[in-house]
Amino acid sequence: MTGGPDGPSGPASSDRGTRAAPHAAEADLPPQDDAGASGPALRCVNVVHVYGAAGAGVVALRGIDLSVAAGEMVAVVGSSGAGKSTLLWLLAGLIRPTAGRLFVHGRALGDLSSGDLASLRARQVGVLLQNPARNLLPYGTALDNVLFAQRPTRRRPAVKSARSRALLDAVGLDAQRDRVAGALSGGEQQRLGLAMALANGPAVLLADEPTSQLDAASAARVVDLLQAARKDLGTTVLMVTHDEALAAQLDRAVTIRDGRIGAEARAGQDYVVIGRDGALHLPPEVLDVLPPGTLAEVRRTSDGIELRPAGQDGDKA
Ligand code: ADP
Ligand code: MG
Repeated sequence: MTGGPDGPSGPASSDRGTRAAPHAAEADLPPQDDAGASGPALRCVNVVHVYGAAGAGVVALRGIDLSVAAGEMVAVVGSSGAGKSTLLWLLAGLIRPTAGRLFVHGRALGDLSSGDLASLRARQVGVLLQNPARNLLPYGTALDNVLFAQRPTRRRPAVKSARSRALLDAVGLDAQRDRVAGALSGGEQQRLGLAMALANGPAVLLADEPTSQLDAASAARVVDLLQAARKDLGTTVLMVTHDEALAAQLDRAVTIRDGRIGAEARAGQDYVVIGRDGALHLPPEVLDVLPPGTLAEVRRTSDGIELRPAGQDGDKA
């Protein structure tokens, strides 16, 4: 699989397909497995993703394990190139993993055809891609776009129209309703994309840096809107962001570092996550004590373990 967030065969070269994809086919989906009703809304099990040819490819994800409960709002943070967008694309079913399994409300994405996946996106999984222009039909007006997003629903035209107007108001685009989407600013396109992603009341919203081009007030409004979706519909939110203040407003933030989830923050407390092979990403702020390449000693203590540079034996001094 060579498509992806910024590769040559990603949406940049197949814009039309990608734009249409979230709203395309209406195939009936296979039933959920047992975990569907009560299990996590999103689950990744040892997900690996390599772009390009095996052996010569770019390893974007090296074993992601993640579980997000229904109604939870989780931020995905990490430096540029860490693999955040790749994870979002995989969960959206826009690309398929090299290895590992992904589940949305108990449905194994690997068991779904691309038509099934398109239907899932159209009805249950709102997706907001990182590049704002990729989420919309550039020649339609803002209103046309939100109406278009509701094609898979059986709502009456008047209901669709009222909902579109309400959503455009909610994202602060009421004055831009009749403007052509392609002519909107990046920030306006971002807000329009959010209105579209929320148009069908998704069970899950996957948003890739949805506030990157917004000022603080508009970004706060986006968070309010997501929180309202959670309250009204129980929407689960996975949001990639660089904005630490915004990440801190969600239930937790997971950090992707070097293709793995290395850290997690909840309620102001930072934790490291032990990888499946026992690997540990030390937080950057302690790397002055244990710089990369340091030989370190691991010792069991009464209530945990202790890590110290080799040869610095505190006890036997
Ligand atoms: P992030 O969103 O955290 O910035 P990405 O998921 O976009 O990271 O990218 C992770 C890695 O995969 C980077 O090294 C990036 O260059 C690479 N990558 C992303 N998409 C492609 C692609 N389609 N083809 C090849 N490499 C890609
Ligand atoms: Mg990205």
